[in-house]
Amino acid sequence: MQILLVEDDLPLAQSLRTALQKAGYAVNHVDKGHSALNAIKIELPDIVILDIGLPDLDGITVLKSLRKTHKTLSVLLLTARDSVEDKVAGLDNGADDYLAKPFEMSELLARLRVLERRLSTSKTTEICVGRVCIDTAGYRVTLDGNEIELAKKEYMVLKTLMENAGRIQTREGLESRLYSWGEEVSSNAVEVHVHHLRKKLGNDFIRTVRGVGYKVDAGGV
Ligand code: CA
Repeated sequence: MQILLVEDDLPLAQSLRTALQKAGYAVNHVDKGHSALNAIKIELPDIVILDIGLPDLDGITVLKSLRKTHKTLSVLLLTARDSVEDKVAGLDNGADDYLAKPFEMSELLARLRVLERRLSTSKTTEICVGRVCIDTAGYRVTLDGNEIELAKKEYMVLKTLMENAGRIQTREGLESRLYSWGEEVSSNAVEVHVHHLRKKLGNDFIRTVRGVGYKVDAGGV
């Protein structure tokens, strides 16, 4: 599950990020409304945790704007005030849930599990490209229907490439993806994982785009 955390209170954002990563979420954090809209354009998260009080665009404006293009994206609003007006404005504008600060981490995690369950019933969890399929709910990968054992980081790299089949993923982008999963990333980590993936999936599935990064062709091999 990929979470976009939009929060300008940096100590709070840091502690949320750490706790969410510990709970198994991949977290991307931004601290402004405009950055949130940009981040969503670049890579669609599964869930957005959106603070209402932001320095540029307030959370309600961000929510209105993203609802024009993403009607079903799950959004959980946060606010510093337990204000009825904010709550009503948030729900009226299509927030899926609402949490007033201060809150317990366990409460946030419980709300996220509800949103996740809602997502998993509405969204297919299998991605297939050519002969390779991944079941993102069960972390299973198959080649020609036969299950392949992958290390966690190899799985993450493969999932990112397959979710973006047909588009080049830069090495830096893949590295930051590993980092957002709370993994230690060494300088040649991505090359090493791709090397191992090629041993398991064949040399042609993941293509090197020289000087840029990697891609999986939309039709596979
Ligand atoms: Ca704030």
